[in-house]
Amino acid sequence: MAPKAVYIHIPFCTQICNYCDFNKVYAKGQNIDKYLEALEKEITLYVSESVEVETIYIGGGTPTALDEKQLVKLFSIIHRYFNVNSSTEFTIEANPGDIDTEKIKILKHNGINRISLGVQSFNDQLLKIIGREHTGLQATKSIELINSSNIENINLDLIYALPTQDLLDWKKTLTHAINLPIKHISAYSLIIEPKTIFYIKAEKGEIELPSNDIEAEMYEFAMNNLAESSFNQYEISNFSKYGYESKHNLKYWNNEEYYGFGAGAHSYINSTRVRNIGTTSHYLKALEKNIKPILEMNTLSQQEKIEEELFLGLRKIKGININNFRKRYSLDLLNYYNNEINDLILSGLLELDGDQLKLTKNGLYFGNDVFMKFIKD
Ligand code: SF4
Repeated sequence: MAPKAVYIHIPFCTQICNYCDFNKVYAKGQNIDKYLEALEKEITLYVSESVEVETIYIGGGTPTALDEKQLVKLFSIIHRYFNVNSSTEFTIEANPGDIDTEKIKILKHNGINRISLGVQSFNDQLLKIIGREHTGLQATKSIELINSSNIENINLDLIYALPTQDLLDWKKTLTHAINLPIKHISAYSLIIEPKTIFYIKAEKGEIELPSNDIEAEMYEFAMNNLAESSFNQYEISNFSKYGYESKHNLKYWNNEEYYGFGAGAHSYINSTRVRNIGTTSHYLKALEKNIKPILEMNTLSQQEKIEEELFLGLRKIKGININNFRKRYSLDLLNYYNNEINDLILSGLLELDGDQLKLTKNGLYFGNDVFMKFIKD
């Protein structure tokens, strides 16, 4: 079956954040129109016109770094190849500093019904430390502006365990977020990734990070307070009001296939994971020659599919349904991983709740340790 989800990568940013390891470049001086033309060419190498999909997600980079004309061009490409209707979940990522009334009009007119805003924190001092250009007040105003334009499905991306951040500061940011007109919060702890400005600073001992205990307290505060405010935790780091779970991201966690277009984009089609060339100029060159801009691809074995099913599926709070697993892989999950599952249940990290195998509350703090147990040599 053809994928029912599309990811489109727009790698341009007006600033580079100190923690960011995504595929991105400074927007200034880039030939964005040429990129959009290449993007269209790439899409034509995979699909013909008017394909039916359930979700489209435009991520980055910062898609809203595009000017109005470029946004219109991007949407005309998307509409040419994908059929967007009222039941399509159509998300775009945006940064508070990049979004205004005119751009929101264009988004809405083109069927965007979900905006994911990169807020990270409402503390101006912390925003500066992590290299963001916007202020907390700008973020609040952007949310109010989007909401008043009748796009009610708003996600906020937040990051905790930032350099110098204490628990009180995280409580303030989260409490402020909860009181805004939003439907979804993604809250991730800071990870210092290689090839980032923070990584270089950490190597030199120039970063003061909260301890692991404080980080765990921040996560616990988020889980408890978001639950009290009717934000249901449905994945390790994701919380939503009832009915506003991200349908697109659930496709990833349900291990479904998806198209991915753009520099550095990933896709999963016909049991094959594909990663595109990340460097924009190389991506453009491949498409000038009419060849798919693929950097690497891997057709998954049955064992690899099972491992991915586990480490993606166990990210969901409700976990994995063992009957669905049997139908999909013709295997009894509890038998196949008998020793691993028993050990993890005895350690209090996994539990079997009816037909659902899932992380315990304690297991949520140690997800990666649990997932590693299912990798067979
Ligand atoms: S975090 Fe977002 S805005 Fe910042 S550099 Fe990365 S992609 Fe760009």
